[in-house]
Amino acid sequence: FMVRIAPLALPERAKPLYVMTFRDISELRRIDRMRSDFVANASHELRTPLASLRGFIETLLGPARNDTKAQERFLQIMLEQANRMSRLVDDLLSLSRLELKAHLAPAQTVELAPVLTHVRDSLAPLAAELEVDVRLHLPDDGVEVVGDRDELIQVFENLIENACKYGQEGKVVDVALRKLDNGAEVSVIDKGPGIAPEHVPRLTERFYRVSVADSRSKKGTGLGLAIVKHILTRHRARLIVRSDLGQGTEFTVRF
Ligand code: ADP
Repeated sequence: FMVRIAPLALPERAKPLYVMTFRDISELRRIDRMRSDFVANASHELRTPLASLRGFIETLLGPARNDTKAQERFLQIMLEQANRMSRLVDDLLSLSRLELKAHLAPAQTVELAPVLTHVRDSLAPLAAELEVDVRLHLPDDGVEVVGDRDELIQVFENLIENACKYGQEGKVVDVALRKLDNGAEVSVIDKGPGIAPEHVPRLTERFYRVSVADSRSKKGTGLGLAIVKHILTRHRARLIVRSDLGQGTEFTVRF
């Protein structure tokens, strides 16, 4: 609590009176702590690839100076680390841009079917590399929502990319668009390993990744679902996660 004491203005010679106010600042404290945790996490995530880049540069300048085979291998790893840093900076910028316009409601009319087709096409190279078949299920009639087209593309890119990466072993990802009486919904369904229930409520936290194995073997920043949540909040849409271990996962966006 923040406590303030102020004297009351009273006619002369009256007994002095004071007003004491208590203000609950636990929410402000919480936001402050979240902000500093976020900066600490972001710095740590950037520092790791940076340290590795420095190590490789030192090796290339020293012991590996004349070893062309090693040089090629190290340069390849350095390129991957640099790509990782760019992905991270892009995601951090997306988050901060979204925070800046959090109070502005998006106002375009967006047809969802072309958005989903666009995302499927732009992820085709990744899906091919992972040998996953992304199948779209679109109704005959158009389905529109009020929103921001680029942001919705980002939402479905993140969800479908995750389904391909983490549900790779299921081989297929189904994306279904449905019109509802008072809105619309899109489900992204994979037949991968699923997510244990204790992780589900934390998935949209910044930098949250389910397992160390995920963070080692699958490219990602841990910011994808945090970005999804921010965008959906602006759109007054909900993210519903259903997952069964060993069966697969379904992320549904309900507008
Ligand atoms: P990342 O950049 O790690 O993909 P996200 O915020 O997009 O970050 O996802 C957070 C974590 O949620 C992932 O690291 C992964 O462990 C888990 N996850 C997301 N989507 C799926 C999915 N379809 N199946 C299983 N796990 C998933």
